Amino acid sequence: SASVFDVSVAPADALFGVLAAYRADPSPTKVDVSVGAYRDDNGKPWVLPVVRKVEAIISADPSVDHEYLPITGLPDFTAAAGKLVLGSDAAAISEDRVSSVQTISGTGANHLGALFLARHPPANKVGPTTVYISNPTWPNHKQIFSNVGIVLKEYPYFDPKTLGLDITGFLSTLESAEAGSIILLHACAHNPTGVDPTQDQWKQIAEVMIRKKLFPFFDCAYQGFASGDLDRDAWAVRYFLSLGLELLVCQSFAKNFGLYGERAGALHVVSSSKETSVAVKSQLAVLQRSEISNPPAYGARIVARVLNDPALFKEWTEDLKTMAGRIQVMRKVLYDKLIELKTPGSWNHIIDQIGMFSFTGLTPAQVAKITKDFHVYLTANGRISMAGLNSKNVEYFAKAVDSVVR
Ligand code: PLP
Repeated sequence: SASVFDVSVAPADALFGVLAAYRADPSPTKVDVSVGAYRDDNGKPWVLPVVRKVEAIISADPSVDHEYLPITGLPDFTAAAGKLVLGSDAAAISEDRVSSVQTISGTGANHLGALFLARHPPANKVGPTTVYISNPTWPNHKQIFSNVGIVLKEYPYFDPKTLGLDITGFLSTLESAEAGSIILLHACAHNPTGVDPTQDQWKQIAEVMIRKKLFPFFDCAYQGFASGDLDRDAWAVRYFLSLGLELLVCQSFAKNFGLYGERAGALHVVSSSKETSVAVKSQLAVLQRSEISNPPAYGARIVARVLNDPALFKEWTEDLKTMAGRIQVMRKVLYDKLIELKTPGSWNHIIDQIGMFSFTGLTPAQVAKITKDFHVYLTANGRISMAGLNSKNVEYFAKAVDSVVR
């Protein structure tokens, strides 16, 4: 019957659709390499031992209650989170030029950052507020920016011929971008390709961005999870900071703490002065108030305790190495199997790419076939989550790939 709502059914989220199909498949050999969440060698979610330990400490602490956090979040959390990504010796921190706000994980940080820039666009802006995102990128970036009315443009990123970075296309698009445009950069472990610029390439990117007055918007969802080394994964952000740039960093603790559902994240806006930074933080608080009032406490408490305690912090770095290390081993094992099988094509990208994801180069038709014939689930763009592979299924997976590319 007639409704006041003029709506049609929206397309299902592509990724969660694949996951639903996987869950419904009764095959005992099915493999899920779609979703970006860590799995242990038994294919099970992994609660980090340091997280388990801190949960016990928190639940036994009589001073912990369920009051609201401040609008901008738990101060012990936001301060330690800022140091973690920007570097504890960052001049921006000692000079009080960082406005940090706790957000609904990395998604919320992207949203709050985008909303802030929609309201307060970069000063050099020419024309409508515009963001350049990599082609391809995490699909949610598009919706997050278009939801707040920012114009979307793309820069070339992935070269399907080399299965590596299209640095020429990337740089030439930056050269032609309008001053004041926002450039969304994946700090490390680019999703979905697993291809990151080298340090030398980051330097070239920064050089053009300074010259063209482009604003760096870093999305950092995998610090420590990518290489196993927290400092290495934050290199690009810290390099841009060392050049004295104003910038913004979205930070997620979903992957590196395994706190996916707890929504622990932060937005850090670095300004040129303490005065600007105070104003920025006050405006972020106004925006946050109307959207969520105050962020969730549980995950932030866990992260804050770990980051502020040297012994727990050390345990966490071990857990990070466990996760990153297992993924690196899976890359190597998969690569070796494909070489052993003499699978047609070049597979170096499997070991060259970094982080949870790999762009396999499988075509949509091959993806459809591997799902139909082998019950292997991945998105149509050929991206696989390495975390879905383990010592029990990697050989089966390699044989399935071998079969569909022949
Ligand atoms: N940004 C990128 C590039 C991601 O890959 C993800 C997660 O997949 C996120 C942000 C946000 O994740 P979350 O909101 O769970 O922290």
